[in-house]
Amino acid sequence: MSKHHGKHRRDQPPGETSSSALQRDVSHRKTGKVAGVDPILAPAATGIVTVRPGTRCDLGSIDADAGGGLDKEAAKAVLATERARIAALQERLYAEHARSLLVVFQAIDTGGKDGSIRAVFEGVNPQGCRVWSFKVPSAEESDHDFLWRYHAKAPARGMITVFNRSHYEDVLVVRVKDLVAEPVWRARYAQINDFERMLSASGTTVLKFFLHISKDEQRERLEARIADPDKHWKFDPADLVERKAWNAYQAAFADALTECSTPQAPWHVVPANRKWYRNLLVARTIADTLEAMDPRFPRAQADISGLTVPD
Ligand code: ADP
Repeated sequence: MSKHHGKHRRDQPPGETSSSALQRDVSHRKTGKVAGVDPILAPAATGIVTVRPGTRCDLGSIDADAGGGLDKEAAKAVLATERARIAALQERLYAEHARSLLVVFQAIDTGGKDGSIRAVFEGVNPQGCRVWSFKVPSAEESDHDFLWRYHAKAPARGMITVFNRSHYEDVLVVRVKDLVAEPVWRARYAQINDFERMLSASGTTVLKFFLHISKDEQRERLEARIADPDKHWKFDPADLVERKAWNAYQAAFADALTECSTPQAPWHVVPANRKWYRNLLVARTIADTLEAMDPRFPRAQADISGLTVPD
């Protein structure tokens, strides 16, 4: 990687939460130049629980219903400012053409991946942003190693890439549905960590969000889809079958978040029952991360100040 002139902000220990996401305390954040290939991350927004690398993720202890003491309208107003920050920083990242950002979303069905992407990336120049949704692998994809299809979609320099589902499906649905033998999916935790370490060392900041909803909230969202004809397109009867495996999915998520929360790519658990709070926390964390990366417009190739444009 060529141009790592960003700020390094890893001084806030992951795993911290507090009540108000509106109060931004940046005084504790020291900044400093980093050399070479250190990952450039920012502490997650207050209200998110970051899984401390090497510690067990206990999803049951994280309140999916949290709202940070905010009200919906106030949160929506703040979301607009976070979106503006993302848009401005994304332009710099694109112009700099040196580094990239990979944003990974994982959640149980109805957890809000699509809604978060829509809300957070509104206003970002589509030319500098790609969203990839990963479904059941095609025959060609299945004929390759499990990371092949994800690596092919990893961001190019200057880009923000969003994974709507990701390489984590290969230790989640694959495990719950017993699609490969246990030793195969177990080995994947280390393989995923190696993959993300390589991306990070190549100038890609990896930001991973787990959208945490409660089982009651999932029931309400499924019922809403059944009740509203405009939401029928979103309803898949298979979701009712998957819901029966709720506990198996929660166990698989907890293990993935435990095994694959690393210093270079920690997992962020977002309370996601309240959509407006979820959107705010995700947007703020992305904006803070881009700010920590500190992308710069490149210098002009030569002194162009005296040039005139011919008729
Ligand atoms: P979504 O639920 O993300 O809106 P779909 O309804 O099309 O989109 O679901 C995509 C499906 O693909 C999910 O059921 C998911 O479990 C499945 N899937 C994704 N990746 C894999 C994988 N690697 N192996 C098996 N199934 C996968």
